[in-house]
Amino acid sequence: MNKSFITSLLFCCTGAFGQSYVPEWKDVTMKVQPQANIHAYAFPLEEVRLLESPFYTAMQAEAQYLLKIGPDRLLADFRAHAGLAPKGEKYGGWESSGLAGHTLGHYLSACALQYAATGDVAFLQRVNYIVDELEACQHARKTGYIGAIPNEDSVWAQVAAGNIRTRGFDLNGAWAPWYTVHKIMAGLLDAKRYCNNAKALTLAIKLADWTGNTIKDLNDDQLQRMLFCEYGGMSETLVNTYAYTGHSKYLELSRRFYDKRILDSLAAGIDILPGKHANTQIPKVIAAIRRHELTLDARDARIATFFWQTVTQHHSYATGGNSNYEYFGPADQLNETLTDNTTETCNTYNMLKLTRHLFALQPEARYMDYYEKALYNHILASQDHESGMVCYFVPLRMGGTKAYSDPWHSFTCCVGSGMENHVKYGESIYFRGRDGSLYVNLFIPSVLHWKEKGLQIRQESALPAAGTIRLTVTAKRPETFALRIRHPR
Ligand SMILES: [Zn+2]
Repeated sequence: MNKSFITSLLFCCTGAFGQSYVPEWKDVTMKVQPQANIHAYAFPLEEVRLLESPFYTAMQAEAQYLLKIGPDRLLADFRAHAGLAPKGEKYGGWESSGLAGHTLGHYLSACALQYAATGDVAFLQRVNYIVDELEACQHARKTGYIGAIPNEDSVWAQVAAGNIRTRGFDLNGAWAPWYTVHKIMAGLLDAKRYCNNAKALTLAIKLADWTGNTIKDLNDDQLQRMLFCEYGGMSETLVNTYAYTGHSKYLELSRRFYDKRILDSLAAGIDILPGKHANTQIPKVIAAIRRHELTLDARDARIATFFWQTVTQHHSYATGGNSNYEYFGPADQLNETLTDNTTETCNTYNMLKLTRHLFALQPEARYMDYYEKALYNHILASQDHESGMVCYFVPLRMGGTKAYSDPWHSFTCCVGSGMENHVKYGESIYFRGRDGSLYVNLFIPSVLHWKEKGLQIRQESALPAAGTIRLTVTAKRPETFALRIRHPR
């Protein structure tokens, strides 16, 4: 066990799920249980409630924005493309571009997370409404597909026929279409995960089947050419579909979304990242570590540990963020690239996901040291706490200023991941040790309602303004467990 965690025995004295599906203690909702040794388990998001702090303020601001958004407007082209009459006018920005539809997936995830984190039924109602609407679209199409991407039917037909053209962000003229499919699948899986919406899982499974059908005839060359185009976390959602269903065909399908060019290099310990688009790579690695949890695949573990170490130690700024104009540069040479377009926010959103998985396997303080640094300096700092608007880039240029999104005319990738960022601050504050101990990873004012043990842990702190942290434990019955408090580096 890590010596950076102060371990003490607690004397007798006085739940939904963490985003990105880090294993939880005795989680019976997953048919496939981890084969890897999980040493620290995430708590269900519903068991953690935030108390007053800048994080709580950010969460409130995000929630207000989420409630102003009209689901029917995000759904407009999903309905139109399925031959149904839209019930609202589509939004501007990237929602009127080739990436149309990606926001709905993030929005579904964010509403599901916010429901788990607060119990506010207004968000549950939105989740259920959107799932019903997507069901209508999927039913009307009859193929299993759901989408709002311009010209999508002809693009997918060309891909299925093995006619594949890409220069990295385009696939047969469409803007990273698998990226958007991933967001829809992730939103549906989150609706199942955090709101127990069984229909959402059914829809996600049909979309996974459509995916398998679409690429079933592609040979390896065609497949690798297709994967040259950014494909988001397709492989992660397929691994999670496998976890939910126990059907190995989804595990095999996740392996087809394996970009050899990048991942084989990482598995061999080669830093192939300079010059590569940063956020295109991170979700591929999250998929690898999630698959390793379920299969014990050693190559997947090597990919993830080498990538994390390389990015956090050689390609990250002091804030924990990475990328300049979205790209990785040469290792250990970041002082020349302090510009207005440093540290895309999606990248840190994804790095935090990856960090949670690695911590579950090996609960060392260094993971949460990184997590804390990136959470405070990048994620929390990426939002205007009054309007809830967010930054695409957090600029590190001297005298640089933050450019916040517009509520109705941006809908960039970082607006989408930003919807999730600020409603899931409760997901990593505490972890449950395999031995029944409690990890206190982050010093964010909150209450943990530890149902399993009938305990309530209240954490009060004004860190970093004041250096004191108070933990109050309330127990229904005497309990003995180790309390592991991270000693910040
Ligand atoms: Zn982004």
